[in-house]
Amino acid sequence: MSEEFGFAPGAVLDNGLGRTGTIRTPHGEIQTPAFVVVGTKATVKAVLPDDVAALGAQAVLANAYHLYLQPGSDLVDEAGGLGRFMNWSGPTFTDSGGFQVMSLGAGFKKVLAMETERVTDDQVIAEGKERLAHVDDDGVTFKSHLDGTRHRFTPEVSMRVQHELGADIMFAFDELTTLMNTRAYQEESLERTRLWAERCLAAHRTLTEERVGKPYQALFGVLQGAQYEDLRRKAARDLGSMEVNGQTFDGFGIGGALEKENLGTIVGWVAEELPFDKPRHLLGISEPDDLFAACAAGADTFDCVNPSRVARNAAIYAADGRYNVNTAANRRAFVPLEEGCDCYTCTHYTRAYLHHLFKAKEMLASTLATIHNERFTVRLVDRTRESMQSGDFDAYREEFLGRFYASRG
Ligand SMILES: [Zn+2]
Repeated sequence: MSEEFGFAPGAVLDNGLGRTGTIRTPHGEIQTPAFVVVGTKATVKAVLPDDVAALGAQAVLANAYHLYLQPGSDLVDEAGGLGRFMNWSGPTFTDSGGFQVMSLGAGFKKVLAMETERVTDDQVIAEGKERLAHVDDDGVTFKSHLDGTRHRFTPEVSMRVQHELGADIMFAFDELTTLMNTRAYQEESLERTRLWAERCLAAHRTLTEERVGKPYQALFGVLQGAQYEDLRRKAARDLGSMEVNGQTFDGFGIGGALEKENLGTIVGWVAEELPFDKPRHLLGISEPDDLFAACAAGADTFDCVNPSRVARNAAIYAADGRYNVNTAANRRAFVPLEEGCDCYTCTHYTRAYLHHLFKAKEMLASTLATIHNERFTVRLVDRTRESMQSGDFDAYREEFLGRFYASRG
């Protein structure tokens, strides 16, 4: 832990787990719980950084795997680091690349196949996909999804790449498993991830000493263990107390395969084991109900690609649920995307205009829809934080989810 980085917990929920707080980074503070906007390839798709800031986003998360392949982490380093390269002056995160690399092993983007029946198979890959990644005890060899070239990620490579990218918060390189893996494989994998975590701390220490004069970069250990309580708790205890050459983790990422209905439970298990005074990031959630479950169980930050991804397909978040602005009902709807929303899109445009832009396949459609959906999510998390501070969290959660999912029946 450095003077440039720290976490101060604030209000705590009655369960002793969920809390508000402040993360201090060299590029500013993050009030938690906080939603971290996803900018995979050093851009929040379709939106200018000034607009990302204006909609209230506190931090951006980019992807080490994608930036390593294109344009190259050395190039981002030369440009002055991720924040300067993309013109985002606030806090930044990069993930370790493990998720993307490992996803190649099971068929790209298919690894978290929640729908699959309860089969267990350590060799499973998505139908019709070639296995593009192979894990061994030292690291992972994979083929680029861009051009098929061969690459190798190890804990040391991931740390070097993330130091070159220069984000305020980085993640240790971990092995991602799927829910289909056998219990025996999960145990083996967890041990591999533990050993990789030690190597990440050692490499991080060396790189920090080498890269004199650069802002401090915090390193979060990543907790795996799938759906198993004993494995999740063990991972939290192991990484929570891990120290290599005087270096400890500055915070923790909660990763890996988990079923939506267990999300809060799993975050709760690890939160009970982790040091209270270090921040916890939940890697990749999808919907508002996940967000409440994560906050209640003690996650401080989380990233979610959905608000912008679905926006580009005309799906709009609103208090009464998600709807598609492309439907005929919106052709003459001269009202904002969401009544009462304070975002740039809602204060200047109508559903009818967005409907027209999507039908005409105009680029501005993605920009305006993304601004609204990101603002919706940021505001939701801001209100969640306020409700935790004022002691109204449960009431707010019930009210919000009752309305948002009402149409689902
Ligand atoms: Zn809006």
